[in-house]
Amino acid sequence: MTFTLGIHESVDLIFPPTVLREPLDSEDGSEVRVVGSGTDLEACDALVTFAYEDAFLSAGLSWIHSIQAGVDRFPFDELESRGIRLTNSTGIHGDAVGETVLGYMIQFARRLHRYRDRGRDGEWTHPAWDEPFTLAGESLCVVGLGTLGRGIAARADACGMDVVGVRRTPTPVEHVREVYTPAEIETAVADARFVAVATPLTEATRGLIGADVLAAMADDAYLLNVSRGGVVDEAALLEELEADRLAGAALDVFETEPLPEDSPFWDRDDVIVTPHAAAATRDYYRRIADLVRENRRRAIAGESLVNRVV
Ligand code: NAD
Repeated sequence: MTFTLGIHESVDLIFPPTVLREPLDSEDGSEVRVVGSGTDLEACDALVTFAYEDAFLSAGLSWIHSIQAGVDRFPFDELESRGIRLTNSTGIHGDAVGETVLGYMIQFARRLHRYRDRGRDGEWTHPAWDEPFTLAGESLCVVGLGTLGRGIAARADACGMDVVGVRRTPTPVEHVREVYTPAEIETAVADARFVAVATPLTEATRGLIGADVLAAMADDAYLLNVSRGGVVDEAALLEELEADRLAGAALDVFETEPLPEDSPFWDRDDVIVTPHAAAATRDYYRRIADLVRENRRRAIAGESLVNRVV
């Protein structure tokens, strides 16, 4: 049997489709081709993709792999009713996102974001004596302790921070001193200088970081969101920032992406905006290739797939 794996052209948003092709080429008779949304989809048994399109449902695919960990854009029920399996790319972004979040915290603590902003105008301004601080001894609450959350916690711990976290099952997690349940989230964030959000977007997490949780955070705390825009209530966040009831925010993900030009988040000194790039690394495609190769082997052998969502 020839197994044909399609690489959808939409992966181009993250890496060129052709670079993924080489590590997926194999000598077992399976074929790899870069496909668009036209009829060539129908020649494929499985598809590796960034985007979701309705055309995927009727193309006769048996398996779709999302090159993102978040699969909130895919219609789970439709896929299930058509017998199309969906796998995601969780498990591979802990290092990259962990370093990005560490970078946000260092920027805020050491004021690097302000020097960069002011440097553009040639402004040599020393910070107020009580503005800069060090991460050592500061506290972090990580909401969602999966791949991203653990990557963040390990790095914060290595910097001497006190790390607590929120997890559905409050069992111990390495590098995390205390684990709270989602029902205890307001207690979990209350003493944290930084709150990092790393859950998937689900019915249970939509708006999880709303007015109540933001109000429970300290006035000198920073919110860091690397999950999905919908997990944070953006209007409530803006209100807290405008009222100086939060020190700042670093946001990689937004309700609307790309972030519209007229968004108030762009112009704020106390906000770092990154363009959904927290997981970006030039090695991204290699990690995807490892996951897809293993699942292709399993698909051909009739075994169950890893990272299966549907
Ligand atoms: P993961 O599956 O390894 O971890 C998710 C964790 O969140 C799990 O431990 C799960 O138990 C926990 N969780 C789920 N609901 C929760 C709730 N209500 N309260 C607390 N914890 C809850 O996934 P991951 O690889 O860590 O990625 C997490 C999410 O981050 C993805 O779904 C995706 O949306 C987002 N993400 C964003 C980027 C980016 O570039 N910014 C990159 C990768 C992932």
